[in-house]
Amino acid sequence: MTFQNRTALVTGASRGIGKAIALRLAGEGVAVGVNYRERAAEAQAVVEEIASRGGRAVAVGADVSDEAAVAATVAKVEAELGPIDILVNNAGIFRRMELGETDWEVMDQMQRTNVRGVVVPIRAVVEGMRRRGYGRIVNLSSIAAHGTSMAGTTFYAASKAEVVVLTRRFALELGPFGITVNAIAPGFIATDIVWVDRTREEVERLFSTIAEKAMMRRVGKPEDIAAAAAFLASDDAGFITAQVITVDGGRTDYINHG
Ligand code: NAP
Repeated sequence: MTFQNRTALVTGASRGIGKAIALRLAGEGVAVGVNYRERAAEAQAVVEEIASRGGRAVAVGADVSDEAAVAATVAKVEAELGPIDILVNNAGIFRRMELGETDWEVMDQMQRTNVRGVVVPIRAVVEGMRRRGYGRIVNLSSIAAHGTSMAGTTFYAASKAEVVVLTRRFALELGPFGITVNAIAPGFIATDIVWVDRTREEVERLFSTIAEKAMMRRVGKPEDIAAAAAFLASDDAGFITAQVITVDGGRTDYINHG
């Protein structure tokens, strides 16, 4: 993959998929802003891991839905590493919620992080990308947005479907400026998020049933997503935009696999 002297901001890179994306981009020679919400020590550990392999990185704490905090993050990354050419909107949360439950606070939290938390960082970097006539934006959606049947994921799925629409609309708007906007729809990836609002038994059952329902007969690893993100973020992917790349090992349990 080709990356010509690039700088990236990866949101939610203190752990899980974001961490794998940050490490992968750094391994490709990209300087990386490692954003986190509250786990500063974990984010710093990612920075040190990158530095120990000869890469450049900086940890930047900010809630991705907070415009002022994200503006400060962008300023810090650009001051220390250079103009941001690549934005990976990875930060996201899952909270289990059924139709019968009306905990609006839970819905609002998912909307704030998963939807507003995509729009705010894009707005913060896009003027610079336009000026330079180059940009790569990669948003993390989910196969939940395509219509999986997994219990409790309806409202999370709705927030991730919004990410797909925003990806296509922003791609339409930004293409003339040399900026691509794509999304990745991961399947079940073994990270902390899969433990949220689930018991150990539920998670163990999910691991085995999902592995059985995947053509590749396993659940995903963060590195599986990082590989796709790195490609979409690379110079090579300049003619790919407005796409949603599913990375799920060939799951066969969709309501709608369209
Ligand atoms: P994770 O292990 O729970 O990690 C979440 C990351 O996001 C952490 O770095 C966290 O920071 C950060 N974060 C959360 N809220 C934030 C906020 N408001 N501002 C800034 N950072 C915030 O999750 P993951 O599994 O790696 O998921 C990454 C993305 O992939 C998410 O968008 C998720 O919805 C999506 N996805 C995951 C799966 C899966 O099966 N794992 C499947 C489909 C889609 P702290 O560490 O500081 O809390």
